[in-house]
Amino acid sequence: MDKERRLIIAGNWKSNKTVAEALDLVSGLKRELATVTEADIVICPPYTALDAVSKAIFDSPLRLGAQNLSDQAYGAFTGEIAPGMLRDLSVRYVILGHSERRQFQSESDALVARKAANAHANNLVPIVCVGETLVEREAGITEKVVGTQVRGSLAGLTVEQVEQTVLAYEPVWAIGTGKTASSAQAQEVHAFIRSVISSLHGEATGRRVRIQYGGSVKPGNARELLGQPDVDGALVGGASLEVRNFADIIKNTLQSPA
Ligand code: PEP
Repeated sequence: MDKERRLIIAGNWKSNKTVAEALDLVSGLKRELATVTEADIVICPPYTALDAVSKAIFDSPLRLGAQNLSDQAYGAFTGEIAPGMLRDLSVRYVILGHSERRQFQSESDALVARKAANAHANNLVPIVCVGETLVEREAGITEKVVGTQVRGSLAGLTVEQVEQTVLAYEPVWAIGTGKTASSAQAQEVHAFIRSVISSLHGEATGRRVRIQYGGSVKPGNARELLGQPDVDGALVGGASLEVRNFADIIKNTLQSPA
């Protein structure tokens, strides 16, 4: 698939997989994806499996991501994970502001922005998630909601940092529900997000920033969704927990047209 920006496909394992299960999944992914070089492939295990997975993927094209990060550099913040601890394990990416954290941990745009700044200050690439609920979509305020989240969650970042940030558009109504945004719906919001970035930081930055789609991405719908001009990858939840599904999402997306 020929794209203006390099594709980035990430698997968010959420609170799933013991260390043994994680290593089992990784060994299958390494076998299936050993030769993939045309896209960034990122796996985001739970914290407890990061060390083992990091060691297991060092000789593969897979890259490592975490699912959250403290907004503090280090110190007396019980239960938080500081950026240096992730760097220590060769973590490169970190998912921030996932809708589950916004909903269940009351994470605000301002907190996400502080976490994103902390990530950048420590050479981690934040994957910043935004997306509207079903009620908000049906009320016709998708752009208002998503625009506010994008502006708030990137507040205070430099142009260079914004350019290096990956955004993930994840309509909340499509996460784990089996409902997927149509490719037209995804493209419309992705183009809108790009226009918000362009208006804040200039056209060149808007053109360079990568925007993933997330929400029930599966082997059967990945190629069409990721074929949209402003969709630069996928953030995959449920389908990233099983070798065949995650590998097929990547293979189906990257295969040359018949
Ligand atoms: C997610 O949680 O980021 C996600 C997109 O989940 P799923 O693929 O299961 O909808």
